[in-house]
Parts: sequence; structure tokens; C-alpha cells
Amino acid sequence: MQNIWSTEAWAIVVAACTLALLGILTDEWFIASLVTLGAYIAWLYHRMLKLEKWIRKGTKTSQVYEDRGFVGIIIRQLYQQKKIYNQRKRKTKRILRRLNQNISALPDATVLLNSEFQIEWCNEPAMYLLNLRSPQDLGYKINNLIREPAFLAYLKNPGDREYIEIQSPVDESISIQVRLVSFGGNQSLLIARNISDQKQLQESLKNFVANASHELKSPLTVISGHLEMLDAEDGLSDTGRRSLQTAQRQTERMKDLIQELLLLSQVESYRLAPDEGDRVSITELMANVMTALEKYADRERVSLVLPENLFLLGVNIELEGICINLVENALKYSSPGTPIQVKWVESFRGEYVFSVEDQSSGIDVEDIPKLTKRYYRGAKSRADTSGSGLGLAIVQHAATKHGATFQIESEPGKGSCFSVTFPSYRCLQRAKQSASVMRLADY
Ligand code: ADP
Repeated sequence: MQNIWSTEAWAIVVAACTLALLGILTDEWFIASLVTLGAYIAWLYHRMLKLEKWIRKGTKTSQVYEDRGFVGIIIRQLYQQKKIYNQRKRKTKRILRRLNQNISALPDATVLLNSEFQIEWCNEPAMYLLNLRSPQDLGYKINNLIREPAFLAYLKNPGDREYIEIQSPVDESISIQVRLVSFGGNQSLLIARNISDQKQLQESLKNFVANASHELKSPLTVISGHLEMLDAEDGLSDTGRRSLQTAQRQTERMKDLIQELLLLSQVESYRLAPDEGDRVSITELMANVMTALEKYADRERVSLVLPENLFLLGVNIELEGICINLVENALKYSSPGTPIQVKWVESFRGEYVFSVEDQSSGIDVEDIPKLTKRYYRGAKSRADTSGSGLGLAIVQHAATKHGATFQIESEPGKGSCFSVTFPSYRCLQRAKQSASVMRLADY
């Protein structure tokens, strides 16, 4: 610091000496003052301009120069800051390079998107799973490059679902699971994973269950026939008859289970086209539901609201599966004597809504999303009632297959409402306004 001010002091001393010399030699003190001051200011300007040029060119450390005066303080400060900045930049670059290498090594396709869904970066698997090219596709909107409708719908409302499954744009035989994760406020990371092997395994498992169920059907019919024949015999002891009845009950359970497994594999197979299906009379369908529920002695507590002339486009046995499972569950899980309301109504949007409302003890909120998973049974139900845990999985898949939505609402202690809303393109005839209310048993 002392050095700096001594330089400036020296400059002033030199200026004063020059002024004195010029004044004595010319005796024109005013002009001598102007010349000396002008020279001093020009010297200062020269230093300032040199500094400005160095700053304008990016304060490069390689071009740093020395100034012994006060300008040197500014140069030194800027030089130090630039050095720190360069060190940080090098460190950040190193981290970014390592991160890039790590993400590139991931087997999942990873795409970095900005708030407009424009591609900012993608790794190598994104090229062979999503058909993206780097750097050619950088800056393009991903929704212009992947046109799959399910993907576009997911991009619009990513909060609706955790992930979606679509076919790879590169090869239709490859199934991919796509997940969108938002970060940093308005950016998102698109992660796509090849799940073809997993899908194939699931498919073969489904086929195995369907085939095994099918194969079990014939021997079970034979066993049940023989049990019926034995039942007709007179000479059976009490113990023998009790054993026979147990065997008959278990055979019936097995038959129901096989029936459910076969129906589940049928509804899972594919999604119906909007114009696919048979003309199903809901009046006749509800009559079949009643027959199927004859084993419930207290089914009088079920009241049914059904407008005339309801016809749906769909698969009869699958629609029946939806109705039987929901009404049967209401009978199974609500206390005897409590009312159950079954309704078919037309919404103002022209959809048909089938709903079953009961006054059971209700379902815990955290349990609701799990109910439609196959084999899932509520803890209380497992202890109190028999069942397979397949009923609501059948309802969910049959609804999806028909383009319908399945909704479960429940309030612990008050009861539950299960409803299936069929889209208007499945409704073949407008319902007449008058709806009849009847007991399911009298129906
Ligand atoms: P299952 O009836 O064979 O157990 P479901 O798939 O039909 O299988 O039902 C799954 C679970 O959902 C049941 O175990 C039960 O815990 C719960 N559940 C279904 N319907 C009702 C209902 N109406 N009221 C209360 N709980 C229900």
C-alpha cells in the first residue's frame, strides 16, 4: 500500500518539478501549469483506458499487467476474483463431466427438459429407446418427437399418474415405462425404462394362471358331479354326510375361484374399441345378478334403482362380473339388516353410472388404492369372511376394458360407495326419466 501511494506521490513531485522547470525557463507560469496538468491528466487517462481494455477483454489472467499506482489495487482485486472464478468454473466443469458420465452410464433413458418441454440434454439410451438424437434434437419439444397419445396426455397432466407404459417409438415390440420427475421449479427429467422382459414374465404368469384354471375346471366338474351323486345316496352316516357337505362347500369355493381367475384373465386381455361389444340389456343383466346372489338369504335389503330401456355396448359376462362383485361385497362387508342401494343412473353428460352404496364400517383411506390389486384383502375381511381378493381387480380391469372409470369412496364408520361410470359412447339408448325402485330379491 505504501508503495502505491509513494508512486502517486512521486508522480506529483515529478509534475511539480516539471512545472517549476517550465515556469523558470519560459516565464509563462499559466501555460506551464496547463501543460503540466494536461500531461498528468493524460497519464492518468492512459492508465484508465488500459485498465478498461483489460476488463473489456475479460480480465484474462494471462494478460494481466502491472501498475504501481492506485490502478494496481483495482487490477489486483479483479485478478484475484478472476482466479477464484476460474478455479470454481474448473471444479464445476469437473463435477458436471463426472455427472454426465454417470448419467450416460445409466441403463435408463434420461432426458432433461425445460419448462416448455424442450430437450436440453439426453443420454445414450434415450437414443435407442426413444429415438432421440443428440445434438440434432436438442432444443426441440419432446411432444413433437414422441407422438403417442398416452404420452401426450401424461405430459399434459403428469400429476395424474406416477408413470405410464407405452411402446417404444423405435420398436413396437419394446415396452417402456416412462416417468416424469420435476425439479428446480420448472425443469423436469424424463426417465424411460425398458420393461419388455418384465411384461413378458407377467404375460407368461397370466397365461399360466389362465391355463391352469382352465385345466382345473374339468376335474373339478367331475368331482362335483360325483359328490352330488353321493349326496343323493341314502345310506350315509351323519359323519359321512358332514364330510360330504364340507367337500361340496370346498368344491364350490374352488369353482368360484377358478371362475374368477378365468374372468380376470379375460378382462385383462385387451381394451375394447369404442364400437366393440354386444348390445347388453341392463334389465336382463340385473336379473342374472339376482340369480347369482341367491345364496345370500338377506339380499332383500338391497334396493335397486333402474331406469327402463338401458342398453350398454359391452361384454355381457364382464359387465355381470362388475355388478355381481360389487353387490356381493356390499352384502358380505356390511352388517346384516343395513340397507344397500344399487343404482343405474344416467349423468347429465350422457354417461351411465352404476353405483353400490352400503353402510358398512367403511374402509381406511390408505387401504383404498390397494383394494383393486389382485389377491389384496382387507385385514379385517381376511379374519371375518372368505374371499379371494380378486373381485375388485376384476371390476377395475373390466371397467378399464370398457373405457369406464371405477371409483371407491368410503368414510370409516359411515359406509362406502363403489361406482363405475361408463362413457356415453357405450350407452346405446337414452334412459327414460322414470326410474323404478325395487328390492333386488323381488326383481
Ligand atoms: P374379496 O371380497 O374376495 O376379499 P375383493 O377384491 O372383492 O376381494 O375386495 C377386496 C377387499 O376390499 C376386501 O377384502 C375388503 O377388505 C374390501 N371391500 C370390498 N368391498 C367392500 C365394502 N363394500 N365395504 C368394505 N370393504 C370392502
